[in-house]
Amino acid sequence: MLTWEEELQAYRRRTKKSARAWEAAKRRIPSGVNSNYRLVDPYPLYVRNARGSRMWDADGNEYVDFNMAFGALVAGHSHPILAKAMRERVSNGTIFGYESVDAGPLADHMCHRYQVDRLKFSMTGLDATLFAVRLARAVTGRRRILKFEGCYHGSHDALMVSIKPRKEVSGDPKHPNPVPSSKGLLKELVEASVIAPFNDADATESLALAHRDDLAAIILEPVPMNMGYVLPEPGFLEGLRAIADEVGALLIFDEVKTCGKWYGGAEEAFRVAADVKVFGKAIGGGFPLAAVGGKASVLDQVVPGQIAHAGTFNANPLSISAGLVTLTKILTRPRVKQAQRIGDELAKGYVDIIEDHRLPMRVQAGGISGTVHFTRGAVRDWRSFQDVDVGHWWGYYTAMLNRGVIPMATGPDEQWTTSVAHTKADVARHLDAFEDVAEALKKGKAEMSLVEAV
Ligand code: PLP
Repeated sequence: MLTWEEELQAYRRRTKKSARAWEAAKRRIPSGVNSNYRLVDPYPLYVRNARGSRMWDADGNEYVDFNMAFGALVAGHSHPILAKAMRERVSNGTIFGYESVDAGPLADHMCHRYQVDRLKFSMTGLDATLFAVRLARAVTGRRRILKFEGCYHGSHDALMVSIKPRKEVSGDPKHPNPVPSSKGLLKELVEASVIAPFNDADATESLALAHRDDLAAIILEPVPMNMGYVLPEPGFLEGLRAIADEVGALLIFDEVKTCGKWYGGAEEAFRVAADVKVFGKAIGGGFPLAAVGGKASVLDQVVPGQIAHAGTFNANPLSISAGLVTLTKILTRPRVKQAQRIGDELAKGYVDIIEDHRLPMRVQAGGISGTVHFTRGAVRDWRSFQDVDVGHWWGYYTAMLNRGVIPMATGPDEQWTTSVAHTKADVARHLDAFEDVAEALKKGKAEMSLVEAV
């Protein structure tokens, strides 16, 4: 591998059109990106087209893609079955202002698959977690929401608290401060959050008990994937189930990511049931689709005039058809299993190379995703994630791009996704590239910090 400076120069040389596209976009779009998390140093890739596991940037460089749109593309880019169905759909109306006939069958499939009684469709993870919070407050008549430090639930005011708080302002690890993740949030909303440390059931219990009469919900990513890939430790999810029951709060699993990582989502993987589950990303096969599902006793309270749920584009026929085709014809149990085997191979390959080169890194993985953490210690919560060497991650990421591999979604707090389109050959190419950069990772690094929402 070249030095970090040389890798950066190589990146600039091979992505000149992306640089120009970025300059042009910045004239009208602040920072040139439409989701802050897409902004990287020195500038983001601008992309022309993609298919299967491959993507081509503005300069025509080919990449094997393991970002897969931050996990939204477990079906791969433009899966042929989906592409055909969508061409037909587009020719027959893309939005009606009425329900489409496929919404019921898709809801039925999802209720079986994810073990919920009822669900309501939304468009994005953001819409859906926003609605889940309103639902919890409405059903319980309570105000506070307990969330975990380092968990992300979408860019809306109720949950933009302590997503990536800086050490200096985070406070006691067992009793973290609620830290706003953006300017412009109402102080009252921030203060209505109770922030707990992930993987610490005792601390969570004492925080929940302190607010027991006013706690509407405990919301979490059952497997946090916004501080890298973090597995819940044995007993943690069961502990949260018991705490929610004890204080009479709803347990909400934000499965926007996890619903695509195992065929039946987190409940199938960890055998703990939530009262409400939020689905998104992978279920639409690359089209915007999300849903809030849960027990009949909770969801049946969503009645006009009682609890508001609305949206012009909710359950539009394009998204609903995409969801139905994706879940019933593409993300079948055997195909998801196959994607998991490919993911396991990638994880194992990383572990071997890291051991061979004695790199100060560790792999945390499961399902079809995982993260190479640039730290030796286990990442089990936001505080331990802060030991990750962000600068080295950036060097690795850029060097991998220069070798035609997008190794994971953008940021050391993200993870790779293996889709139904990935092959063993794709994994081999990924690992060859990593072998090539591994030795140099012991040397220089880039100066880089995490992209914060603020
Ligand atoms: N919840 C989780 C766990 C997420 O990772 C994300 C996005 O990354 C969201 C919710 C928000 O979803 P969306 O970006 O579709 O609004």
